[in-house]
Amino acid sequence: MLKETFREVIIWRYEPGSAPPTISFNGTNAGANLPSARRGEAEMATVLIKNAHVITAVDDYHAEILIEDGRVHTIGKDIPVGDDVEVHDASGLLALPGGVDVHTHLDWEFGVARTVDTFGTGTKAAAFGGTTTVVDFCNQNRGESPLVGLENWHERRQSACVDVGAHMIMLDINDQTLADMKTLIEREGVTSFKIFMAYPGVLMVEDGGLFKAMRLAGGRGAMICVHAENGPVIKVLVEEAVAQGHTAPKYHMLTRPSSMEGEATHRAICLSELAETPLYVVHLSAIEALAAVTEARDRDIRVHAETCPHYLFLTDEEYDRPEFEGAKYVMTPPLRTHEHQTALWRGLRTNDLQVISTDHCPFCFNEQPYGMKYSKQQGKEDFSRIPNGAPGIETRLPLVHSGGVGKHGMSLNRFVEVTATTPAKLFGLFPRKGTIAVGSDADIVLFDPDETWTIGAAEQHSRIDYSLFEGYSVTGQVKKVFLRGQLIVDGTEWLGHEGAGEFLRRGECGKL
Ligand SMILES: [Zn+2]
Repeated sequence: MLKETFREVIIWRYEPGSAPPTISFNGTNAGANLPSARRGEAEMATVLIKNAHVITAVDDYHAEILIEDGRVHTIGKDIPVGDDVEVHDASGLLALPGGVDVHTHLDWEFGVARTVDTFGTGTKAAAFGGTTTVVDFCNQNRGESPLVGLENWHERRQSACVDVGAHMIMLDINDQTLADMKTLIEREGVTSFKIFMAYPGVLMVEDGGLFKAMRLAGGRGAMICVHAENGPVIKVLVEEAVAQGHTAPKYHMLTRPSSMEGEATHRAICLSELAETPLYVVHLSAIEALAAVTEARDRDIRVHAETCPHYLFLTDEEYDRPEFEGAKYVMTPPLRTHEHQTALWRGLRTNDLQVISTDHCPFCFNEQPYGMKYSKQQGKEDFSRIPNGAPGIETRLPLVHSGGVGKHGMSLNRFVEVTATTPAKLFGLFPRKGTIAVGSDADIVLFDPDETWTIGAAEQHSRIDYSLFEGYSVTGQVKKVFLRGQLIVDGTEWLGHEGAGEFLRRGECGKL
């Protein structure tokens, strides 16, 4: 029996044999994996970028780029154009494909906390950092269909300034939600799912459910992403620490040992191997986890992994900061010792790590006008109540360029590969996103590789009130950003607008 109101439909569809509701939302959808279609809005300018030093994952050359209808039309020399064409001179600048950040939590509710960036503010910050595509996490609520979670996410993402796709966080795995996963893959362009092996009672799915989700995804071109930490054991350690009065932020790190990340990563790999499905390990931070990934890849198992700038540039010494300052660095997994950092750089060099994304999950340090719900101060008396997460959406490209290309022998091609091309390929967005090529979306970043500047929260565009990298000097600065041919960032000037971001219906995941 089909009921009329939305809430009733949810109840109805949980009866056996029921069919999933059809999601309707405003906004444009291009086809999976294809360049965006010509849009019916105002005439789009034809744009010529002259003197571009084009860097892709495999190319390095000087050329002109002609953009029409939001896509790269021609790459060549001395392209003849009329007076009506908008011309940009890229002399001295690199032309990079727009960054692809596949790990963000915008406007996301997590227990008693909520991330402080809306899609509008978070994606504006992304754009200033040279990121033009974001794949964000939406979630199923317990007892509800993940299709409802997607519908709610679509409401929130309407303010996005850059293009956005969605991964679905699954909390309940049963016959109905497995059927809903199939619908998400085949109908909604949501082709990756995240399962938490941590946070029992809140977000965690036990191994049987994880295995079932893997089997469902594997045969359908979808991929399972795991937050790999042994949740039940960490829960014991956290409860013991709090009972002993160890409430300072550094106990967040001390109760989440790297071996428990390694154990869960190994377990997830074993399950994915049995399920014959590709696996993506998010925010890998530990030597033990990297060893598990490396060992599996050596056996030709399809496991992929990302790390984040904070694991590459910061260590657990940050938790020794005075007062409550260590709370700024309370993210999961926690920051680790220098030894782990060295291993992660090795992993990037040998391609056992393929992606650098941000895990942008911003909670203010102090209570701001948005309210306590958005603040780390909730955990002032007890580290286990500090919202887990940190900002980073705006600083990824400059940090990786500065630290990777500048200090760790990373090539410019590899820089583009780990920040744009590989994430686009792994998550079903290539070649529309992640490269500069004829027919691809004209998401182009003009980047000055020589400008040195200092990171400061006050100059950033997120609503967050701190930066993990306050006072860091970096070399490499985003100068201009084009989203589908439209100039949205020009130096410090913002030319983009909320609602300009399109929803990205994604194709097959897990292939490189
Ligand atoms: Zn995350």
